[in-house]
Amino acid sequence: MYDINEIRKEFPILQRQVYGKPLIYLDNAATTQKPLCVIESITEAYANVNANVHRGVHFLSQKATEQYEEARETVRRFINARHSHEVIFTRGTTESINLVASSFGETFLAEGDEVIISTMEHHSNIVPWQLLAERKGIKLRVIPLTVDARLDKEAYAALFNENTRLVSITHTSNVLGVTNPVEEFISIAHSHGVPVLIDGAQSVPHKKVDVQALDADFLVFSGHKIYGPTGIGVLYGKESYLNRMKPYQGGGEMIQTVRFEKTTFNELPYKFEAGTPDYVGAIAFARALDFVSAIGIEQIAAHEQQLTRYALERMAEIPDMRIFGKPDGSAISFLIGNIHPADLGTLLDRLGIAIRTGHHCAQPLIDHFSIPGTVRASFAMYNTIEEVDAFIAGINRVVKMFG
Ligand code: PMP
Repeated sequence: MYDINEIRKEFPILQRQVYGKPLIYLDNAATTQKPLCVIESITEAYANVNANVHRGVHFLSQKATEQYEEARETVRRFINARHSHEVIFTRGTTESINLVASSFGETFLAEGDEVIISTMEHHSNIVPWQLLAERKGIKLRVIPLTVDARLDKEAYAALFNENTRLVSITHTSNVLGVTNPVEEFISIAHSHGVPVLIDGAQSVPHKKVDVQALDADFLVFSGHKIYGPTGIGVLYGKESYLNRMKPYQGGGEMIQTVRFEKTTFNELPYKFEAGTPDYVGAIAFARALDFVSAIGIEQIAAHEQQLTRYALERMAEIPDMRIFGKPDGSAISFLIGNIHPADLGTLLDRLGIAIRTGHHCAQPLIDHFSIPGTVRASFAMYNTIEEVDAFIAGINRVVKMFG
């Protein structure tokens, strides 16, 4: 049974008020709130097991290392990777994509090669490739959208040629809340011998993502969007690619031997984890994944989809409501008449309702619609039908103010 009251009790911040009103937090696509077990696991790690990992023979260092490596195993299980050494801890989605752009780029890409991205990418899946394009003289090819704002599969299939080296696309759009059928996109790429990176920042927190079932070559996501701490995230990569890729950063831990004449590199996953990793972040992140697993990702998905369907139904009652794309996940982007998104956001905020406005770090997608930005409401496991009602009532109040 999905006991929403029990779940809400785990999140201290949900008890607080803003402007004397109960907080209604609908900005979960930006970051999620943290359950007490995650918050406490940070204190617990510093209070009881803090020591630098991997380098110490002493008791605490071994304990910290054990917990850090258990966290890696928890991530492996969560996404069903074949090996835990295919899980690299990074600072988050952005760093994971930069790592692949840099290391895959250095190893496999040369002038004239092409990387395919899409119109609905977050800036973090555009700009690293543009920087690489400048450095290496590679070309970016962009999958266009269909009239109903989905990735155009036929146009995508036509982008492949003998220079295509990598596809890097989002699983779920952070703006439209649309989930792309990435299985099909991966299998098209593989039929050309081209690997695929999936940006799972908005899918992993909201649905079961199995890297082996998808046959994804790389999957990236952030801890903070799945109830974990900030500053920790994941790069999953198939061993066959990671083993051949050049290191990303140099430093401690990523080496085997260092001589001034020649340095040799450590094995996976350490080759890509230079310096002291955020082991406390990783431990707390694993706690968040365990928390999600205990409730059940399918149950969370069903709850969030119910909220999304209900919100869409209620929003359809509001005159001049314009919804972008066909949301099937947990985010809805919209505009009402010619009310500026920032005005709507500010007025809802005064009612205690936290939503996001603007370009959502996806300017090319916003430009595609020729609009200044959108208002986005996004749900998580702890949101309720009553909160959706309050959100709709808030919108109606703002619409009235604007006459
Ligand atoms: N990709 C998508 C689809 C996102 O929604 C986000 C965060 N808004 C990112 C990438 C970047 O994630 P982070 O800021 O955690 O690195």
